[in-house]
Amino acid sequence: MRVLYPGSFDPITLGHLDLIERSARLCGGVVVAVLQNPGKQPSFPLERRLEQIREATAHLSGVEVASFDGLTVHYARLCGARVILRGLRAMSDFEFELQIAHTNQSLEPEVETLFLATTTRHSFLSSSVVKEVARFGGDVGHMVPPGVARDLMRLFNRGNPHG
Ligand code: ADP
Repeated sequence: MRVLYPGSFDPITLGHLDLIERSARLCGGVVVAVLQNPGKQPSFPLERRLEQIREATAHLSGVEVASFDGLTVHYARLCGARVILRGLRAMSDFEFELQIAHTNQSLEPEVETLFLATTTRHSFLSSSVVKEVARFGGDVGHMVPPGVARDLMRLFNRGNPHG
């Protein structure tokens, strides 16, 4: 089974990575796809986000990294995925995710949405929380892959205290 894991990944966090690792073990292949959303001004350009994901998933087999625009269900069909993977952290994610899943089901009944619950140690993580911490000089080493931590330091002009 091939699954599509779509998201903004602005940037990828250890929560995202945990989901990718677990789904790669469960499924035959995972396509991690960065949505080019014209309505959102990202902190990292698309190419940088793709590189961050490639670097963070280099140790995994069966993981592809791609980008797409338009509807997720259309892209799922294009890349031959019958399943869209999404992560659930808390009840607050649930309502929104359920609405998207129902919308996608109405558009493309053949494509299923699969939810994986986050591991508890990553349940507080989101791309925006990570950026907020980095912006004010907090340590994000336990929240994001090392390459992303460096990018965040650069983004917020924090330099690298570890050289
Ligand atoms: P989007 O803008 O599509 O919500 P995100 O990059 O924020 O994109 O998230 C992509 C997916 O990853 C979503 O399903 C989200 O619920 C999930 N996710 C985000 N953070 C975590 C985390 N810490 N643990 C597990 N899943 C997560």
